[in-house]
Amino acid sequence: MNRLMDISSSKDIFPEYRNTPIGLLLEYHNLDRKPKIYSQAQLLIGMCMDNRKHLHIPDNFAFIIRAGGANLRYSEFKVSYAIAVGDIQHIALIGHNNCGMVNLISRKEQFIKGLVNKAGWDKEAAEDHFMHFAPMFEIGNEIDFISSEANRLRLRYPKITVAPMMYSVDDNRLYLINEK
Ligand SMILES: [Zn+2]
Repeated sequence: MNRLMDISSSKDIFPEYRNTPIGLLLEYHNLDRKPKIYSQAQLLIGMCMDNRKHLHIPDNFAFIIRAGGANLRYSEFKVSYAIAVGDIQHIALIGHNNCGMVNLISRKEQFIKGLVNKAGWDKEAAEDHFMHFAPMFEIGNEIDFISSEANRLRLRYPKITVAPMMYSVDDNRLYLINEK
C-alpha cells in the first residue's frame, strides 16, 4: 500500500479536503496557487521544529505550532485557543521524513554530552532530563505517529477536520497520508 499521496494537481487532493483550508494549503505549497490576502487565520498547522522545512503560504493564512515531531500532546492549550478564540475549523498535522524525534535513544550519549559541554549541566542532571523526557517525545515511526496523532485530535475535537500529511525534506513537497 502506498501510504503517501503525491499532490501534483488539485485532483489529487482527497475530496473531503477540497475547497477547505486544507486543500488551499496543499495548493499554495505544492501547486503554486496565487496567494490571496487574508486578514484572519484559516487553519492551524502543527509541524516539527526541524529547520529543513519552509511552507509557501500567504501572510496571515495560518496559526503554526512547531513542536518536535509535530507532537501536539503537550501543546493542547494552544490548539484549543486557535479553535475557540482564533476561530479555525481545520488542522493540518505535518510530519516529515528523517525526523530527529525518531529513535531518540540512539542519541542519548550525544544529548547528555552536549548538555554538559555546551550548556553547562552536570552529567547526572542531563541523564535524568533525557530519561524523563525522551519517552514523552519519542514518536517511533513518522507516518504512524502522525496518523495516530491525527486520530487523537479528532477524538479530542470532534467538530474539527484534521488532515495528516508529510513533508519530504528531500523534495520539500507535502504529501497527504493515505489512511484507508
Ligand atoms: Zn522532526
